[in-house]
Amino acid sequence: MTIAATPKNQNFPNPLLTLNYEPALQALGDDYYDEVAAAEFPKHILRFRNDQLLPLLGLNPEAVTDNHFIEAFGKFQERRPFLALRYHGYQFGEYNPLLGDGRGFLYGQVRGTDGELYDFGTKGSGGTPYSRGGDGSLTLKGGVREVLAGEMLHQMGVRTSRCLSMIETGQSLWRGDEPSPTRSSVMVRFSRSHIRFGTFERLQYIGRKDLIQKLLDHVIGQYYPALQGKADKYALFYTELVQRVAELVAQWMAAGFCHAVLNTDNMSITGESFDYGPYAFIPTYNPQFTAAYFDYYGRYSYENQPGICRLNLEMLQPPLAAIIPSADMEAALANFEAHYLLSYKQLMLNKLGFDRLEIPEADKLIYLTIQLLNDTQVGYHEFFAELRQQFSSNWREDADRIFSSASIVQSSEQVDLLDNWRNLYHRVLNSLSPEEMDKVEGMLRRNPKTVILRPVIEAIWEPIVQDDNWQPFYDLLKQIHTNSL
Ligand code: AMP
Ligand code: MG
Repeated sequence: MTIAATPKNQNFPNPLLTLNYEPALQALGDDYYDEVAAAEFPKHILRFRNDQLLPLLGLNPEAVTDNHFIEAFGKFQERRPFLALRYHGYQFGEYNPLLGDGRGFLYGQVRGTDGELYDFGTKGSGGTPYSRGGDGSLTLKGGVREVLAGEMLHQMGVRTSRCLSMIETGQSLWRGDEPSPTRSSVMVRFSRSHIRFGTFERLQYIGRKDLIQKLLDHVIGQYYPALQGKADKYALFYTELVQRVAELVAQWMAAGFCHAVLNTDNMSITGESFDYGPYAFIPTYNPQFTAAYFDYYGRYSYENQPGICRLNLEMLQPPLAAIIPSADMEAALANFEAHYLLSYKQLMLNKLGFDRLEIPEADKLIYLTIQLLNDTQVGYHEFFAELRQQFSSNWREDADRIFSSASIVQSSEQVDLLDNWRNLYHRVLNSLSPEEMDKVEGMLRRNPKTVILRPVIEAIWEPIVQDDNWQPFYDLLKQIHTNSL
């Protein structure tokens, strides 16, 4: 009889260390990175492990212990080359050639069970040649906030990175934007890629067309494989990137999400959302809402996000012009707005309970919904959550039943607005086939009950600071994960 090794057995190999790591980026040569070592930390307390991601890595969560996470992603017990990636970027419109991974590195790359290549990228793992006087660290609150952003956005259908693990590391940090000293953490981010627009911008800056070509071939091969072998694959790549980014911004806008720092070093070449610093979800519909306290002129405000992402795509053109005809890129970018509007429309209709773009008066319904949200300043997320909660199939019979128990309007003008909205919503419901009507409730169920508005995050952070009580954080994660039930 054989006795199966259990994860508790010290000799059992750590499944996180024995994953089949693929040196995909490393294989391109060391022009793209510097090899670095991880910091050594005084403490390692696992605060978050993302068991939902483990099956995608071919791992059974029960076979991975907390200690495995600590060994791999807190103590960095592996001699794998860790790569601090080189990149530049436009920060608030100014070109900065001094960027690069200053507090993180590419830990490794792994092929998921879905056949896609994924990055494990650290944040808070110590200094690198790109730290520029920074301490290479991540605050614990920064770690908590990024964990929550990834999980929330993922649940809301946004194409996003997620945290694989977050470990408290026992250091005291000083930060201008947190009461200090403040606690520290190291995080491992799971994402499609850490190749940024700024990675290409750097290569143009140093005049290395050969490296742009090599990196672009790598990007297309790994992240745009359907284009491989096509004669005009480079132009098609940019066309698809434009579409992916337009869809991503539409996802943020519908989710009421403000990324806060849309510099070109925070734009992924895969069109995925990542790097969550001072982000915020909008409490109410306010186009000028700006999340970062240092964004004095509202450059990255909620309403500016589509335009800024378009501009970032435009600024990527000169580096790519070495390979892709400029006319092709301009033609592709000209479709950005159309892609964005179509995606946004689809997502907003979904939030209103409809899955078909062609419903009558769709544009008018979205317009009127935004007007209602803007003029009443009712909670953006509460509105859709209330719609979810109150919806009844008998709304089809009588417009007065719609939102009859909502107290979202105050002034008489707002009452008129709500009446208009009710009448229109009623007309749309009446245009649906019985099958479509049956689907409304299911569509509305996607509207989250819990959204991580800033006060919600502060409310779970407070017990951590006061009593090292992490239960509210875990409860919130559970709510996020069950939002759509
Ligand atoms: P971010 O605003 O997080 O996208 O970071 C912008 C740049 O500053 C990146 O190159 C980071 O690696 C770097 N950076 C941010 N915080 C630190 C820090 N505490 N220590 C070293 N580098 C940092
Ligand atoms: Mg960044």
